[in-house]
Amino acid sequence: MLRNDQLDQWDRENFFHPSTHLGQFARGEAPNRVINGGQGCHIEDRDGNRFLDAFAGLYCVNVGYGRQEIAEAIAAQARELAYYHAYVGHGTEASITLSKMIMDRAPKGMSKVYFGMSGSDANETNVKLIWYYNNILGRPEKKKIISRWRGYHGSGLMTGSLTGLELFHKKFDLPLAQVVHTEAPYYFRRANLDQTEAQFVAHCVAELEALIAREGADTIAAFIGEPVLGTGGIVPPPAGYWAAIQEVLRKHDILLVADEVVTGFGRLGTMFGSDHYGMTPDLITIAKGLTSAYAPLSGSIVSDRMWKVLEQGTDENGPIGHGWTYSAHPIGAAAGVANLKLLDDLNLIANNRDVGGYLNRGMAEALGAHANVGEVRGEGMLCAVEFVKDRENRIFFDAADKVGPQISAALAATGVIARAMPQGDILGFAPPFCLTKSEADEVIHKTTKAVQSVL
Ligand code: PLP
Repeated sequence: MLRNDQLDQWDRENFFHPSTHLGQFARGEAPNRVINGGQGCHIEDRDGNRFLDAFAGLYCVNVGYGRQEIAEAIAAQARELAYYHAYVGHGTEASITLSKMIMDRAPKGMSKVYFGMSGSDANETNVKLIWYYNNILGRPEKKKIISRWRGYHGSGLMTGSLTGLELFHKKFDLPLAQVVHTEAPYYFRRANLDQTEAQFVAHCVAELEALIAREGADTIAAFIGEPVLGTGGIVPPPAGYWAAIQEVLRKHDILLVADEVVTGFGRLGTMFGSDHYGMTPDLITIAKGLTSAYAPLSGSIVSDRMWKVLEQGTDENGPIGHGWTYSAHPIGAAAGVANLKLLDDLNLIANNRDVGGYLNRGMAEALGAHANVGEVRGEGMLCAVEFVKDRENRIFFDAADKVGPQISAALAATGVIARAMPQGDILGFAPPFCLTKSEADEVIHKTTKAVQSVL
């Protein structure tokens, strides 16, 4: 085993970490953490420190760490056939079985699943399919994609553009011209103090209508949104939001992409967020929960309505010119099959509804009245605490106050990991679905102490 100082030196000299302050890290001014193992809801670092991971990695290790059933399925697949491609009709038993399992669970009206490796590339696929679709339908000018401020859809060129967070645009010359952003359904932060939820939904609808009118409906191809805003702050939408938005989209013949990278496969307590909010998407993005991150795998689920046109397109133009070497990678597919089976066998989505509700209620009871807590909110096994300078007048902290990072550091020092969401004043929780009520109590108790130590 390598010595810690050797590992630290190699890490700082060689490893370009994502979403990291590069200079501080290379100079040794920011900590590194080397994770060695995980079991259930816990991870362990190289020094033997144990943490309750209340963010499931990056809200992805949904069935929990150390699941031997998935590890064995991966090993068996690697021994038998580590790789074969999926081009021109090739497949493996694992990839075909997984496609069937996904489509059996998908909302009504969906037809097929295209496999990728990450949430970002799945959303790139979605945009290409949308453009192809409109070209086949003979409307080449209908190409722009509407996304929401605070949405997160990846960090590629197109997907980084769809993402509505400034950090992902700044100095990268994004967003690209085909992307336009609209209001986030973020009642706590964006509504006027005297606005009801219904009035705020009407405002979101009016903003969307105005954007469509400005750009011209014949230039807008699709609207993309996460059922619950995730990285943008873990924000469930106000009641009636999705129904009202979908009405506008239908009126203007605009496709809906439900980005379910976080919400797919149970995080909200239903199989898909689309089921939870009565959304009828044309495309669904899936990734994280598909394999619980035991192997990288993502997908784009395509509706019947789009599929018909895609088929027509290849009848007219030949095979679809879109493919990744690792589409439907057998090891990812084997992990996916074992993961979805485990989700059923252990009844983990039901546990989500039960313990997720318990976590949310407990957090609201413990922190809801704190002078610097503006809102405790959540849905299923997602929870967020938003901090404010002044509760009565809703005066927000600046990112420079670093309230979220300070509280998450204080919390980690007591053995619980939560995520300081990128905008700096929100602490996010997205534990594995196997969280127990006593683990939820520990998260609530230690979070309360960490908040009290900083604010
Ligand atoms: N879409 C959503 C809603 C996400 O939360 C993420 C990642 O967190 C992505 C897309 C991008 O996925 P990936 O990081 O696998 O590219």
